[in-house]
This record gives sequence, structure tokens and C-alpha cells, in this order.
Amino acid sequence: MNKEVNVDALFLGPKSENRVFYKEMMEYAITEHMHWRSGFHPEDSALVTPRAQHQPDFRDTLYRTEGILRDLSSRLKNKSVPWFSPRYLGHMNADTFMVSHLAYVMTMLYNQNNCAVEASPVTTDLELEAGEDLCRMFGFDVSKSWGHITSGGTVANYEGLWVARNLKSMPLAIARHEGAKDLVAGMTEHQLLNMKPTDVLDLTDELKKRGMFEEVRELSVRGAGVEPGKLGKLLVPRSKHYSWLKAMDLLGLGQENIVQLDVDGNYRTDVQKMRETTLRLMEEGTPILGMVSVVGTTEEGSVDAVHEVLKLREECEEKFGSSFFIHVDAAYGGYVRSMFLDENDQFMEYDALVATYRESEIVPEGVVWPKRDVYDAFKAMSEVDSITVDPHKVGYIQYSAGAITMKDKRIVDLISYHAAYVFEEAGEDSGDEHSVMLGSSIMEGSKAGAAAAAVWAAHRLVPLNITGYGHVIGRGIVTADWFASKLATAEPFVIQGRSFEVRPLMHPDFHMVNFTFKEIGNDSLADHNSLNQRIYELCSYASGRAYSKDFLTSSTSLSVEEYGDTPCAYTSLRGFTDEEWQKEGSVYILRAAIMTPFLRDEMRFSQYWSNLRDIFTQILTEIVDEENKKAMSHSAA
Ligand SMILES: *Cc1c(COP(=O)(O)O)cnc(C)c1O
Repeated sequence: MNKEVNVDALFLGPKSENRVFYKEMMEYAITEHMHWRSGFHPEDSALVTPRAQHQPDFRDTLYRTEGILRDLSSRLKNKSVPWFSPRYLGHMNADTFMVSHLAYVMTMLYNQNNCAVEASPVTTDLELEAGEDLCRMFGFDVSKSWGHITSGGTVANYEGLWVARNLKSMPLAIARHEGAKDLVAGMTEHQLLNMKPTDVLDLTDELKKRGMFEEVRELSVRGAGVEPGKLGKLLVPRSKHYSWLKAMDLLGLGQENIVQLDVDGNYRTDVQKMRETTLRLMEEGTPILGMVSVVGTTEEGSVDAVHEVLKLREECEEKFGSSFFIHVDAAYGGYVRSMFLDENDQFMEYDALVATYRESEIVPEGVVWPKRDVYDAFKAMSEVDSITVDPHKVGYIQYSAGAITMKDKRIVDLISYHAAYVFEEAGEDSGDEHSVMLGSSIMEGSKAGAAAAAVWAAHRLVPLNITGYGHVIGRGIVTADWFASKLATAEPFVIQGRSFEVRPLMHPDFHMVNFTFKEIGNDSLADHNSLNQRIYELCSYASGRAYSKDFLTSSTSLSVEEYGDTPCAYTSLRGFTDEEWQKEGSVYILRAAIMTPFLRDEMRFSQYWSNLRDIFTQILTEIVDEENKKAMSHSAA
């Protein structure tokens, strides 16, 4: 059997090309479920009788049901954003897998609740298996790690910070407990607050042996609350997702305890400055609650040097005897690690990797991917403490599916509301799944078993390595490279004697391509920003029905508040003076995540590009016309 996945067979397709199969399986899901119902105690009689079905108000209720659904369908068709089309290049959205839709619908009919195994005997297993898949993808030892599905990356980040917080406070709790304090005898408060994550977890093992784990746990922040500033600083890059602000707020840690790390010209955490900041905190004696690296920043798709963070932690351990928790926010980029794994899920050597890409035509000659430091960053992910990843982004699975994975599953007991210890009781061979009670060990409570089934099914069909997701994600990466190259060399658009030049912000680490238009000769950054904002409006739902648009994208504004002066490198490259940057303090950019799997063909792409040039010409013409009209009405007034 050919194990390489055929990408075109994974999606319904922009024109519903695979409709026959899709409908057949959708019907199969529904029919099977109906059999399941009628087969349950066939001796029981039907309770909705034909007589009841002939009541006028019965039929009336069905009419109203139909009416509501027709209304909903028309609303959806009228205003939803058509992610499935290659004309949509904006947020991290594209067509999503048929297998996940079908698995979701099929499972939804059974309405399972993954809060507790008694409400989801099948789907809790599927969730744990999907979690293992992700752990394996990240290079964690599957028998020692743990992962599960969340509603999204936001909640996964909350959970990452939640375990980091509770872990950080655990040594203080031990020191406070009469029966346990000998475990940390002689340690100063400073030392207690700077222990290695694994050393703290080893102590929890000891507490469990002594039967005092629960008691001590209640003396940690979870019982005692958070003393302001006590647990130290969270270091996050300026490129962070705003869920980190919410997380610090929500967990009582306070946003003022965030230390923002500057980013470099590639919008990655500036390694040198990260070092300086970290070492300064170490010298001051300020504990580091955790360090966040972003793999695939939300706005630029940039990949932080995770390997440098690990090196820095080692250095701190050696020099200062101080350690900290490392979380990788790979909500966007996490699935990309599958691009580096061979068919046996082993992380490939760089040269072998590139050779494999050429051989299997995943990344053709001439496409710059992966950059060496991006490769190193992905490789290093296996060493970090926890990772957020979103199946509903680059997993090509519909909402709602995020995930959190943790390298050392003992950490879950720190947030668990289960009598300890989830995993020991529900070990692989115990067969006693009744003790798996997800709801008591995670942030959420009741949750859709259907979402877990959707992720699980995708992972079964599309291996999390080069033979599966490698092909799917590779298509977007290659298309993004082509798109960025076209933008970098595009001839200006000439509209009524005015010339507009388009350029990319930078060559992407992953598949987010940011770009702006600039009128040649107009060096006002304010004008540049309003031009791009207007283009965005004309290329999004913001100016009417998304369905009527020829091209759709997203946008963002890189501001001095968020990024410091980093964006100034781009504005000056585009010919704006530093004074313009100081005055305006932000640059408005168009932002395209290239997830579509349907443009990875040179002929097709060049056709697409020439079509897109025409669309941009039209849009710029519309804007120039608007401006002319405005100028006329001003002069008339
Ligand atoms: C999207 C994203 C999040 C938030 O994930 P949701 O699924 O939207 O909750 C967090 N971090 C990063 C880097 C993201 O790109």
C-alpha cells in the first residue's frame, strides 16, 4: 500500500470536487447512527407515533424547524468568509479535511462529553491518543508526556502558564509543610524559587510516597493564592499573542510581571537581548516564572530560536544555579514539526531532509526552506516543558481544536482536582479507564468528544510526518515562497499616471507573507497606512459581502507600542524617513497565511499571480477614483 497521502483526496475541494464521496460518507454517518438507535432494545416500541406525527402542531413545528435552518443557511451563505478558496489568503484558514468533518458529524450524533470517561467511553480514548500523536510529533517520550485537546491555543496557553505557576510555588509549599520540609532543608527562598522543573517534579514523587502530596499541594498557590510578584517574571517576546496578557490576568499573576523581549529584523526574539535581559534578572535575583518562545508568530509567522533558549537555561543553571520553565507557543507553527520527521517519526538530519524534499517533490529546488535556524528551533522543541499547538490552524481541522502537550506528565498532578494520580491509576495496562477524568485535570469541563474524534481521525489518515502532513503543509510553504518572490520583484502598478509598488515585509520563516503597497514618490507613512488599510477593506468582509470579493486577505498594524522600533527597518527600506516612523508610530500591513493546498503547481500559480495582478490593478483604480472624487468635491465646496 502506498503510504504517501494524496493531498487532493483530503479536501472537499474549492468546487466541491469530491462531493460524491463526501455525501456518501455523510449519509453513512447518519444512517449508521439511526441503526444504532433502532437496534438498542429492538423490543421497545416506537414512542413518537404516526398519529402524533399527524398533529397540526407537530407539522407546524417541523415547518418552523425548516424555516430556521433555511434562514441560517442563507445567512451563512451571504456573509461567511470563503476559506476554502485559494482567493482567500488571510488568517490561518483554508479548506479543512473531509475526514475530520465526517468524524465530527458522526461523533456529534452520539453527543459524547469528554469531561469524564463515563460520558465518553470512546472519545476520551481518542483524545488521549490524539494527544500522544502530538507528543510524538514534538519528540517527547510518549510514555512520560501528556497532551490533550483544548478549545484553542488561548486555553492551551492558560494551561501552560497554570502548570508553570503551580510548579514554581511548589518548593515554597514544601518548605512550609512540617512533614515535608526536610526535603528542601537548607535551601534559601531564592533557591526554592529557582529550581529546575524536573527537580521539583522529583520532589512531588517523594511527597506522593510519603502520602502528603495533596496536603502540600494545597499550600501552593492553588490553595494559598498568589502573592503579588512573588513567583517572578514571565518573559515573552513582543510578537506574543495577546492570550498571554489574558493568562497573566486570569491566573492572578499580573500583567505587570510580564517582561517583553525585543524582536530582531525577522520578528524573532532577539537572542542577544534575551540573554542580556535574562542574565540581568538572574543577577538581580528575580525569579523567572517562565520563558515563552513563539514558533510561528501570529502576525509574521516567525520562528523563535528555541535552541538558544535551551542553551541560555543551561547557562543559567551552571552560572547561577537557577532554572526556569520553558513554554513554546506553537499554536500556529506546531504541526510544521511533522515536516522534519521521516516515515518512522525520526527527526531527520538537515542534508537528508533536503534530499528527501527534493526526491518527493515536497520542496523543489530554488525554494528557501527551511532556513537553518528554523530547522534548529524545531529540533530543539523536544526539550521544552510544554507546547501549545492548534489542530484548527495548520492541522487543517475545523474548529474547535487546540491542544496542549507537556513533556513530563507528572506536572498534571499539580493542577489536578482528581485524587492523585490520574496516570498511575489509568496506566496503559491497568485497563481501568474509569479513573480517567479529563475534566478534573484540565482547564475546561464539559467538552465535545466530536472535536477529539475529528483530530484523531485526521491523525490516522494523515501521518504526522513527511509522508502525511509533510505533503499538506509543504504545499503552503512552497506557495508562500513563490508568492513572496513575486511580491519582491513585481513591477509597479501604474494607475492614471501614479505608480504603486508592492513589497513583502521579509522572506517568511514559515508561510505567513506580509506585504504593503506604496505609492512611489509619496513618502508620507500616514498616506501609506491609509492606502493599505483601504486595500484591506476592499479585500475583506469589512466593505460588504465577502462572497462578492475577488481576493480576500487579512491585515494588521505593527506599532511602536508592540514592537518598539523594529518595523522602522522596513519603513526605511521602503523609503520613509525615521521622522515619519517616529511621527506615525505604526505601519499597516496586509497579511496572508498561505495555507491553501491548491496552488502548488508552477503553471497554476503563475496563472493565479497574473490574475491577482489584475485584481490589485482594479482595487488600486477604485482607490484612485475615490481619491479623485474626494478631491473634486473638496474643490467644488
Ligand atoms: C492563534 C494563536 C493563539 C491563540 O489560539 P486560539 O486557537 O485562537 O485560541 C495563541 N498563540 C499563537 C502564537 C497563535 O497564533
